Amino acid sequence: MSDDLEASIMNSLVDMPFATVDIEDDCGITDVPQINLKKSQEKEWNRKNEIKKIKRKLKGYQPNYFLSIPITNKEITSGIKTLQNEIIQQDGRLARAMVGVGALHVTVLVMQLLNKEEVSAGIDALWELKPSVEEILQGQRWPLPFQGIGTFGNQVAFVQLAEGEHVQTLLEIAEAAKRTFQQKGILAGESRSFRPHLTFMKLSKARGLHKQGVKKIDPNLYEKFTDHRFGEEVLHRIDLCSMLKKKQSTGYYHCESSIVIGEEPPGIQSLINEALCRERMRLKAKVKQIKELLLQPETQAKIRRELLEGALAHGPPAAALAQRP
Ligand code: AMP
Repeated sequence: MSDDLEASIMNSLVDMPFATVDIEDDCGITDVPQINLKKSQEKEWNRKNEIKKIKRKLKGYQPNYFLSIPITNKEITSGIKTLQNEIIQQDGRLARAMVGVGALHVTVLVMQLLNKEEVSAGIDALWELKPSVEEILQGQRWPLPFQGIGTFGNQVAFVQLAEGEHVQTLLEIAEAAKRTFQQKGILAGESRSFRPHLTFMKLSKARGLHKQGVKKIDPNLYEKFTDHRFGEEVLHRIDLCSMLKKKQSTGYYHCESSIVIGEEPPGIQSLINEALCRERMRLKAKVKQIKELLLQPETQAKIRRELLEGALAHGPPAAALAQRP
């Protein structure tokens, strides 16, 4: 994730919340009126200082977190595995460039969270985003269909999101996410426009490939799949993931928090869960009570007595059976 970001870092200026700062001011070209010069100069000095600070901050903008839509549909993951194997069969060196199927995702937004407080602000922003996403989706199910292959400069290969209304929806979600996170003061976003994609391989993952002469992903490697339909992923979850922390045992990224889209209102769901839990506990307690009662000598004697009485009423063989310990 973090490999190809450097080029975009400086461009990120335009996309940041402070992008409205007038660059002319930074170059000393201003329309400051001559009257009240001292006050204006002071204001100007403050603004320049502010811009310097922002630029310093931006120079260190290295996204380390991202919002991810995980790919969980087995049809898609197994289709991508087949595609990856097909490529590896043609050039074994590319195995190291493949994205693990457990890590497949669509990135919605990248951001920088540098400490616990910032991660916590990120989690808050994610939860604030939930109602906006639900408003965009308007209670509808949104399957994201994946079809065909694309690349970023033949360095990153991905499965494309098929054309349709859902593309606009995803763009709106990405916009809402960027707004929500930036409003929380989080450095988030990139200058390049959002292009939803599902990366399955990137050369930067495999160090040394360049030296071995692998400088581009040859389109012939995946030509059989250029129109392939990989399946649909229903948009149901967005995760706040770390790019750098150790991945989960499933191969998926470390998640700080997740929002589930289109879930039953938490109030109703938790009431149902609570009621079920209470009922289970009540039943368990009852079963335990019955077991304890059955183990008591008086109960066992009583049972034997009742069996004997019943058996006597039905004849001698049954009575003998009932008398056995
Ligand atoms: P991702 O699928 O988000 O993990 O991204 C895979 C790689 O594609 C990363 O190295 C990104 O920097 C790069 N990338 C993502 N979006 C773009 C884009 N619009 N143009 C060029 N490269 C991109």
